[in-house]
Amino acid sequence: MQIVRDMEALGAALAALRADGGTIAFVPTMGALHAGHMALVAEARRRATHVVASIFVNPTQFGPNEDLSRYPRRESSDAQMLDAEGVALLWAPDVASIYPNGAEINVRAGAVGDVLDGAARPGHFDGVATVVARLFDQVRPDVALFGEKDYQQLLVVRQMVRDRALPVEIVGVPTQRDADGLALSSRNLYLTEGERAAARALPRALGEAAAALQGGAEAAPTLAAAVDKLARAGFDPVDYVELRDAETLAPLDRLDRPARLLAAARIGTTRLIDNLPVAPAPA
Ligand code: AMP
Repeated sequence: MQIVRDMEALGAALAALRADGGTIAFVPTMGALHAGHMALVAEARRRATHVVASIFVNPTQFGPNEDLSRYPRRESSDAQMLDAEGVALLWAPDVASIYPNGAEINVRAGAVGDVLDGAARPGHFDGVATVVARLFDQVRPDVALFGEKDYQQLLVVRQMVRDRALPVEIVGVPTQRDADGLALSSRNLYLTEGERAAARALPRALGEAAAALQGGAEAAPTLAAAVDKLARAGFDPVDYVELRDAETLAPLDRLDRPARLLAAARIGTTRLIDNLPVAPAPA
């Protein structure tokens, strides 16, 4: 696997990859890689001739009081994992290669980025849309892979690609979980042992709420019960547990169409997110 750190080297490496007429699948990440990222790489290999990954901790998607400076960085072990999974090229730019005019937002996420995590983290999805648009301009992939773990981010990226009419196919990959159900996340590294044990309440509460909704329960009391379970497990605050339209993220009172159950909550100093698909029983 080749590792490149500036635009000139990236251009040469991409030209060499494209020389065989094959296609390129792209997996953007912020590093501190785990089996969730590797599932994206595995799907990328199935979908294209060559896989390009990136590692870039994007400053514009972090709020002023968020974890940018303590975000885990371990590029050499990340590079080994990507190499072992058959990635051809790792794009590991510095901030100036992504933001030559300074770290500014120049792509807006739009309505799908205003709610839920967008409301809890103002500007977050503008930062995501900006960096993904920039990375797509640089790498020009045929297909790009994103995890359903960050479900709202996946919708923001799909919208950005539609708005700009970019010739890239966006593929969502199901959330990879630990044995006890907790979604894999680089931020799980922040959890103490006690917090890690308590954190399994998050997938459990979502799973129970999904089962209740699919059994015909009303949304409001079901979501309130999930919030209560999270609070009792030690999450504080619970930012939201919501039932939303799977495409638009519009709020739903009842499960009358394909939907997504989404949650965000803090345990100790760590904010965790998770979500599950929910669909009405066939008539
Ligand atoms: P990150 O490095 O956290 O920015 O994540 C990079 C990509 O990996 C994003 O598309 C995430 O949605 C995806 N990802 C992170 N965790 C998981 C997971 N547990 N399962 C599937 N995809 C994931």
